[in-house]
Amino acid sequence: MVRVSEEWLNICGGCEVSILDIGEPLLDLLPQLQFVHMPVLMDHKYFGQTGEGTTMEIPEAEVGIITGGIRNEEERQIATEMRKRCDTLIALGSCACFGGIPALANQYVMEDLYETVYRASYTTEPSATPSEDLPPLTDRIYAVDEVVDVDAYLPGCPTSPDLIVEALTAVLEGKPFSLPERSVCDECPTTREKKAVTSVKRPLESIVPPGQSVESSRCLMELGYLCLGPVTKAGCGGHDKVPRCIRAGMPCRGCFGPIREGANPMVDMMGALSSIGLDPRSIPDRSATLQRYTGAHNRLRPLPSR
Ligand code: SF4
Ligand code: SF4
Ligand code: SF4
Repeated sequence: MVRVSEEWLNICGGCEVSILDIGEPLLDLLPQLQFVHMPVLMDHKYFGQTGEGTTMEIPEAEVGIITGGIRNEEERQIATEMRKRCDTLIALGSCACFGGIPALANQYVMEDLYETVYRASYTTEPSATPSEDLPPLTDRIYAVDEVVDVDAYLPGCPTSPDLIVEALTAVLEGKPFSLPERSVCDECPTTREKKAVTSVKRPLESIVPPGQSVESSRCLMELGYLCLGPVTKAGCGGHDKVPRCIRAGMPCRGCFGPIREGANPMVDMMGALSSIGLDPRSIPDRSATLQRYTGAHNRLRPLPSR
């Protein structure tokens, strides 16, 4: 029996839904797994049932799974405790791996964020920034591996249930788990004709018309839609292999992150855009658009004027 401990940090909960979405294969895995800690499913107080404890209590486990990046000091402490108590630690989802959508906030200085959320928002009565009984925010949003060592990464927003099964199966068999260094384009069935594009359009509905298969479509980027497939790691298609967004007739937005460690998707994508005749400066909000899921690791920083 392998003990599993799961924690959610700065998240939306979608990655937990992905775990539940595993469906029938989860039933095959369950006899070999014992979930000893999982806040989304079981109530477990960190400092004893009435808060009487002085040290954080997270049970020991062979496998630890963390979803979400780190936005406050409590989450930093939880990640540190998870690392101490789990033999193998998996970062699950783009938030845990690269900061994810919340790390778009790394483009702004903290005071501007407080001002927008608590005072300048049209739907909020202006008030002081709350501080009582709340853990202090960290200076920016961190990916999990900026705070503790991570053994395996399952990117995606959310990640694919098939990948969670693959990773858990690998752990149960004592094998390492990693995704190959391939791009979404490598698994995309559309046809590339290497024709130049003159402008970028915004997709508001499926680009592939009803009744037409994605396999018979031209590359969505060559049809004039920004697609981050060339600089994004493959793997979201699961057993089907066809990338999830492409299957739905929509361009890739980059949620599986860089193809390899040390890659710079923004620079690489600007090169890819130039190669089809597009001026990368024509992409609105370029830095955030090309690094929508990867704003931790100091990729997104406040601009000097902000
Ligand atoms: S990676 Fe996406 S689905 Fe998962 S917690 Fe973050 S925002 Fe939610
Ligand atoms: S750019 Fe997008 S649509 Fe074109 S081949 Fe790559 S993943 Fe497919
Ligand atoms: S196609 Fe791109 S954005 Fe869509 S799920 Fe796959 S990696 Fe994520």
